[in-house]
Amino acid sequence: MANEDDVISIADHLNAVRLQVAAYEKKYRRPSHSVTLLAVSKQQSVEHILQAVQAGQLMFGENYWQEARPKLAALQAYPIEWHFIGPLQANKTQKIAEHFAWVHSVDSEKLARRLSEQRPAHLPPLNVCLQVNLDGEASKSGVSIEEAPILAAKMACLPRLMFRGLMCIPRPGQHVTQQRQVFHRLSILYLALKTQFPSLDTLSMGMSQDYEAAIAEGATCIRIGK
Ligand SMILES: *Cc1c(COP(=O)(O)O)cnc(C)c1O
Repeated sequence: MANEDDVISIADHLNAVRLQVAAYEKKYRRPSHSVTLLAVSKQQSVEHILQAVQAGQLMFGENYWQEARPKLAALQAYPIEWHFIGPLQANKTQKIAEHFAWVHSVDSEKLARRLSEQRPAHLPPLNVCLQVNLDGEASKSGVSIEEAPILAAKMACLPRLMFRGLMCIPRPGQHVTQQRQVFHRLSILYLALKTQFPSLDTLSMGMSQDYEAAIAEGATCIRIGK
């Protein structure tokens, strides 16, 4: 069982991140509350997620179905919004379409079609982001900046998906300046696509090591694990 120290430390940590986000919104002249915090709960126990829920956090990200499955089942009674942020495999799309509200990591037409076809009729359309690979050949997930508009157009047409935005997981950069240059490229693409696809409102970028740079470059959703 979790003891009281755990409760305090998770609530304190969440509050510290929230305060830091608010400070960066101010520093970079972003409207207050324009950045939402997605708590990445991978490798966290059900008890710890529950402590975060009790501290007011309701958006959680998981990156493997096998790991997420027992947690989602155990936490069914809570109004949690689950986001799938990990690598998508064709044989897991059904479960993900059934159990998650969002998928940030769509990077092929085939996966997008499967998610749309498998989204249960009684649920609202699945919110999806297109994952863009900003590092070229260095990472496998995500489409290139050049390919993104083509896949975006296809995703926007799928009836059971709601195309919400773009996501990236860049290679860790050393300094804020360097990190900003990378995020800036996704931000430019996002603003260009937004004129074409009015449903876009989400720029999912920034993790614990680089969320200052992401907020500076217009992130609307940061994904924080630590
Ligand atoms: C683990 C993970 C995060 C959180 O990373 P931290 O460095 O722990 O903040 C964010 N996004 C994705 C896709 C992840 O897999």
